[in-house]
Amino acid sequence: MTSNPWLDQYPDEVPHSYDYPKQNLAKFLVDSAALYPQHIALDFMGKKITYSSLLQSVYRFANALNQLGVRKGERIAIMLPNCPQGVIAYYGTLLVGGIAVMTNPLYVPREIEHQLTDSGARIIVTLDALVGRVKKAMEHHPMDYMIVTSIKDYLPFPKNVLYPIKAKKDGMAAQVEYGQRVLPFLSFLKNSSDAPIEVAVDAENDLALIQYTGGTTGFAKGVMLTHMNLVSNTIQAQLWFYRSKIAHEKYLAALPFFHVFGLTVLLNQAMYIAGTLILIPRFEINEVLKTIHKKKPTVFPGAPTMYIAVIHHPKVSSFDLSSIQICISGAAPLPVEVQERFEKLSGGKLTEGYGLTEASPVTHANNIWEKRKSGSIGIPFPDTIAKIVHSDTGEEMPLGEIGELIVKGPQVMKGYWDRPDDTERTLRDGWLYTGDLARMDDEGFFYILDRRKDLIIAGGYNIYPREVEEVLFEHPEVEEAVVAGINDPYRGENVKAYIVLRKGSTVTEKDLKSWCKERLAVYKVPKIYEFRDSLPKTLVGKVLRRKLIEEENEKLVNQ
Ligand code: AMP
Repeated sequence: MTSNPWLDQYPDEVPHSYDYPKQNLAKFLVDSAALYPQHIALDFMGKKITYSSLLQSVYRFANALNQLGVRKGERIAIMLPNCPQGVIAYYGTLLVGGIAVMTNPLYVPREIEHQLTDSGARIIVTLDALVGRVKKAMEHHPMDYMIVTSIKDYLPFPKNVLYPIKAKKDGMAAQVEYGQRVLPFLSFLKNSSDAPIEVAVDAENDLALIQYTGGTTGFAKGVMLTHMNLVSNTIQAQLWFYRSKIAHEKYLAALPFFHVFGLTVLLNQAMYIAGTLILIPRFEINEVLKTIHKKKPTVFPGAPTMYIAVIHHPKVSSFDLSSIQICISGAAPLPVEVQERFEKLSGGKLTEGYGLTEASPVTHANNIWEKRKSGSIGIPFPDTIAKIVHSDTGEEMPLGEIGELIVKGPQVMKGYWDRPDDTERTLRDGWLYTGDLARMDDEGFFYILDRRKDLIIAGGYNIYPREVEEVLFEHPEVEEAVVAGINDPYRGENVKAYIVLRKGSTVTEKDLKSWCKERLAVYKVPKIYEFRDSLPKTLVGKVLRRKLIEEENEKLVNQ
């Protein structure tokens, strides 16, 4: 194995503190390209891109943005599945001092519009198949430039089944009208220079990312993450999971880069140690198993649903999974049984971690090299402190008792974009109030028990009930609506809507489903609908979502 100068600095014991470099986050890529120019950075459907070639494209993108007048602090929206163009746009944005706004490609126009308007992005990089939706969003938020790529741009041969977005459905997709403001991605790169460019940043204060996350107030809020936040979290994860043992890992990049979990533990991580990213634009279990069998990744970070899909695949034993050494599960609770079965099948280690967008995201994990505890999210990352407190008084709870988990560390966000009140509520004296209920045992391991916030996690996606409820409420025949997460053995939770219709209404489940589909990304659309005459409420009229969930759990027990 080639020695890696950064990793060789690490001592044998996992350090609990580290001096994080105050640098542009994209410096990880610049340094890796200088040290390992011929090493493969990206493997995308058979097309391999070296570090040197990737950095050249990134410089081209950064110079082209510069030519368009992009200056430090400008927000650039990137709405792409995992593909080389997304990596190029992301690091190009960072090198020119811009702020990346990662946008979920499953979003419908009103969700895109909210993100563009709120962040004030005037440039978006997207896929031809998504242009129709972006254009609709732009009716209310005009953009200066749309840089459009095709998934075929980086393929040796055309493939059009990579992403579940049908060109026809989006209208515009098939024939994009390029012009002064709609620029084709490849010409954008070709007409630019690959001269090195790196705009100086104040790593502790300048933002690298505005990452949107749902809130109980309805629409998503932008989490402001600085270069230092993300540099620190990448190195913290490195110390915890890999150390010098496995530089140049091969990462199965199945987690999407538009979520900060994938961004930190895959993209930034791989660039930091000059690893290879095997890009998966869409998690389709047969393709994923074939890719593992053929490409032999060593690291597979994921959400529990991904590991569940692997262990339940009827032909899993016909695939060779033995290359996998390390898996980090996050985003939702990892059932112990899934952990055990997956480890038996692959021979690798599947360890659970925990985090949230507001912390870049990881704050806790079971350390791969030291003691692990199933069912626990592990111990705090290096340089991270965590406490269990009484949610209202902020007083620390006695050992073993349940309270709200609060954390402090270099990965904790600067605040919410343009939302000082929300920031004040969530960040108090430098402590991040996670909204998760947890307890700590006498060895310092943490356990998540419940969520204070109303978040639903279905198939690894986060859904905030309030946002879905608002869409249902907009329906003229809906009198009341409550949305809750109902236990599901495969997806963790399912979205269920409880509806009270206006008197005499004939609206059906099918009507409401298509109403929601037009207004919400498909994973947020309730799967189950129950029509009722009334909903349980508190004395002040607040609907008791928890009571509805308890009723569901009782039904399961009595089945
Ligand atoms: P996000 O901001 O989208 O990353 O979502 C963060 C939320 O996901 C946390 O506040 C938790 O509620 C939940 N979460 C993340 N990891 C875990 C885990 N290992 N166990 C339980 N919940 C988790």
